[in-house]
Amino acid sequence: MSEDGPKRQRPNVLITGTPGVGKTSTASLISERVGLEHVNVGELIVQHQCYEGRDEDLETNVLDEDKLLDVMEVILDKAAEDGTGIVADFHMCEIFPERWFDLVLVLRASTDVLFDRLTKRGYNEKKRSENMEAEIMQVILEEARESYAPEIVHEVPSNTLDDMETNAKRVAEWCKHWEKNNA
Ligand code: ADP
Ligand code: MN
Repeated sequence: MSEDGPKRQRPNVLITGTPGVGKTSTASLISERVGLEHVNVGELIVQHQCYEGRDEDLETNVLDEDKLLDVMEVILDKAAEDGTGIVADFHMCEIFPERWFDLVLVLRASTDVLFDRLTKRGYNEKKRSENMEAEIMQVILEEARESYAPEIVHEVPSNTLDDMETNAKRVAEWCKHWEKNNA
């Protein structure tokens, strides 16, 4: 999104949190309810092969952040041109320009809930315990608070379907206010 671009008509929302907290499910529900375009950043990375090599120790591809940001900027510009906003979901939140997002939701899950979700996902013990530790240590929450204005960062529970429903409703309400205030 270019800095001198037209004023946005609809907000951009970032849904972040530890893997397994429910980002993709929640973002998808918000997209349905609020009509923002769902951008699953993890999928974008795979689609556009935003990698700059491979970390053999971690057995993962190394993210090419610049390439990802270029790909996302096109999507953000297009959404703004079309008069809509996006709801992005990703476990990293500190790599994006601060100005991209108007609301950052940090989803939180309790340890037992996350344990079950990561087990179901087939994560091995090492990967599962790393992610559970990150959740307990509030790593993503702290990164969000360091990267964005505190008043736009909201920590919300994501343990039950009721939580998801509540979170989608809250975002819908919040979007209405944003649009009124930014009209
Ligand atoms: P993430 O994108 O953060 O890794 P997902 O949205 O893929 O998480 O959710 C992981 C799993 O947990 C999925 O099986 C999903 O159905 C389930 N799940 C996510 N959020 C909730 C919730 N609030 N209540 C119950 N189950 C949930
Ligand atoms: Mn996901």
